Amino acid sequence: MPTLDHHPSGRHFLQIPGPSPVPDRVLRAMSLPTIDHRGPEFGELGLQVLAGLKQVFRTRHPVVVYPASGTGAWEAALANTMSPGDAVLMFETGHFATLWKKMAERLGLAPEFLALPGTCPETGLPLAWRHGVRADMIGERLRADSAHRIKAVCVVHNETSTGVTSDIAAVRRAIDDAGHPALLMVDSISGLASAEYRHDEWGVDVTVSGSQKGLMLPPGISFNALSPKAQAVAKTAKLPKSFWAWDEIVEMNQAGYWPYTPNTNLLYGLHESLQILLDQGLDSVFARHQHWAVGVRRAVRAWGLPIQCADPAVYSPVLTGVVTPPGVDADALRRLIHERFDLSLGTGLGRVKGRMFRMGHLGDSNELTLLAMLAGVEMGLKLAGVPLAGSGVAAAMEHFGAPQAAERAPLQAAA
Ligand SMILES: *Cc1c(COP(=O)(O)O)cnc(C)c1O
Repeated sequence: MPTLDHHPSGRHFLQIPGPSPVPDRVLRAMSLPTIDHRGPEFGELGLQVLAGLKQVFRTRHPVVVYPASGTGAWEAALANTMSPGDAVLMFETGHFATLWKKMAERLGLAPEFLALPGTCPETGLPLAWRHGVRADMIGERLRADSAHRIKAVCVVHNETSTGVTSDIAAVRRAIDDAGHPALLMVDSISGLASAEYRHDEWGVDVTVSGSQKGLMLPPGISFNALSPKAQAVAKTAKLPKSFWAWDEIVEMNQAGYWPYTPNTNLLYGLHESLQILLDQGLDSVFARHQHWAVGVRRAVRAWGLPIQCADPAVYSPVLTGVVTPPGVDADALRRLIHERFDLSLGTGLGRVKGRMFRMGHLGDSNELTLLAMLAGVEMGLKLAGVPLAGSGVAAAMEHFGAPQAAERAPLQAAA
């Protein structure tokens, strides 16, 4: 039984899809002394961080930073733009979409939860939890709302509970084609800085994100990227808000400061991680995640196990969900792998609890780290008595070791 003073030798393999492994450079940056958050050096740090964030969100408009986990930034998105009783259209893609919808209910909104109906005959899992957002269903629902009662469409970009990355540009087109004025709000807490994301170009009104996934930071800060329309709507929206209110924060951010004490040392870390990401170039960061994801999926296919995401067009570059055979408790398997190999895998959440586990391929990682993860999983599957069609590790080695791997076929999502 591991305890807090349990120190096994070597590095722990943190392969959950967030918090992700933090680069040593970022950890070192965070160890610098905490400074006066009203002093001159801080303003400089604030301005640099806010400018770098705009590049990562691909926006020219304000990005608000909160000293809170991603859940806080979900609340901020709704509290700033909605009024009591407002109808919001949300789409069930998995656990995180479900939690955001529950939050909307608790805040006194009237969410409508669209979902792909039915059950997958192969795995017995809900089809909605194996597929992405269906822009056509959203468009159809909005066309029926001729009174424009729906005030926002809320979707999850990278559904971390299933390993599905939905097409956000298609959702925007569906809203526009329906001629509907609803805001588009997107949770890209686990997509940002790992999967391609374009806040301005995709016409997103509020993007919600967090620190501990693609940005490779510890948990503790989160974000709202805004559109001019969202800022305008916020001026008349009636849900109570104070801590989360955008106006004062955006105002003070112009000089690099915050109305209350920001998370100074996490901002040092953010400064460093933005530098790492922007030096490498976002396109090469995205291509690297796609390359990793292809290797991991080859392994799952070689084992002969189903990949949770059933639609190759929306495979996540961030994580891969694996469905365990009937009768094999995925959480017991995860426990065994943790105890034997000091490797942490993501648990099945909500409606797929016990039926699947998740392998993260994000954060400070590389091909050999992922091969070690796959080796730990493969040994664990054998120890748990799961019959395997073949070696996933060998299949991933074929991919990572291929002579042409250096060129890394860019953005080969469907492979
Ligand atoms: C991690 C995550 C959240 C929750 O963020 P917290 O930091 O745990 O509050 C919400 N949505 C998605 C898609 C996530 O991956």
